[in-house]
Amino acid sequence: LKKREEQQRLQRLLETLKGQPNVTKDGKTVRIYCNIGSPEDVHAVQVNDGGGIGLFRSEFLYLNSSTFPTEDEQFEAYKHVLSDMDGKEVIIRTLDIGADKQIGYFDLPKEDNPAMGMRALRICLTRPEIFRTQLRALFRASAYGKLGIMFPMVTSVWEVREAKKLCEEVKRDLKHEGIPYSEDVQIGIMIETPAAVFIADELAARARFFSIGTNDLTQYVLAVDRGNRRIAAMYDTLHPAVVRAMRLTVDAAHRHGCEVGICGEFAGCVAHAELLVGLGFDELSVAPPSVPAVKERIRGLETPQAELTARRAVEAATASEVHELIGVG
Ligand code: PEP
Ligand code: MG
Repeated sequence: LKKREEQQRLQRLLETLKGQPNVTKDGKTVRIYCNIGSPEDVHAVQVNDGGGIGLFRSEFLYLNSSTFPTEDEQFEAYKHVLSDMDGKEVIIRTLDIGADKQIGYFDLPKEDNPAMGMRALRICLTRPEIFRTQLRALFRASAYGKLGIMFPMVTSVWEVREAKKLCEEVKRDLKHEGIPYSEDVQIGIMIETPAAVFIADELAARARFFSIGTNDLTQYVLAVDRGNRRIAAMYDTLHPAVVRAMRLTVDAAHRHGCEVGICGEFAGCVAHAELLVGLGFDELSVAPPSVPAVKERIRGLETPQAELTARRAVEAATASEVHELIGVG
């Protein structure tokens, strides 16, 4: 019964909010996008009135297959999502396997410390034939909508430089072959490591947008394994160290005219909206069912008050102070 009541409440909220802009009371726009993990999830984005897709985890094709998915298979999947989103922005993250996401046919050697091992962009740059196939599929799909491509687990400028170089090579090849693609694809970087936070200025100068992945950023800033239940109580995105990392990142991005979003699970909780708006995020990307409640919260916020809350959170000495400040236990 509780579930049904909750669903009805959400449905009413959706109807009230339909077509209303995502703005604070004083008129600041904050985009509310969705995180998805497969093309079937687009339906949920549409039903919940998501403004775009802020994180499309591209691992599904690789995880659902017993061998490397072909360029055409990937192209069809991306094209499907871009066409269904009908011109709204779709940010697709390039392959992020390794660590908590293992795939047998990649033949990755066993590592003692996989979270800090060969994962994500590191795999893509050492095995460019895999990466190139995905990038070709992505650029081909870009002709069907508004595409952003983002790279996970960045720690250095050279990684971005290499990844962008491969993008340029792929575009050059496609042009040569007479295959259409969009010239407006935006390249973005996920901020998930302390290194990326500390060189955020340098990264921002080389990207059109950032998206903070607080799931991993929290893990790496606090040195707390995100999957280890014994230390789950220490895994806290409201720890002042993580809040300050977010502040440094947002400010660096804005100094360079780089947009900044957040796509970790943290963004989907209504109680965090004030802090995130106060920190200056341009976009929150959340699970589709969380869109209406987050939107309702944002529409009730005053930016100066949110900024004050964020400033206090950044200056707090302890996680409990931050919890108290934003009213979560
Ligand atoms: C993150 O790290 O916050 C993120 C969104 O990526 P994933 O959860 O897929 O690692
Ligand atoms: Mg991550």
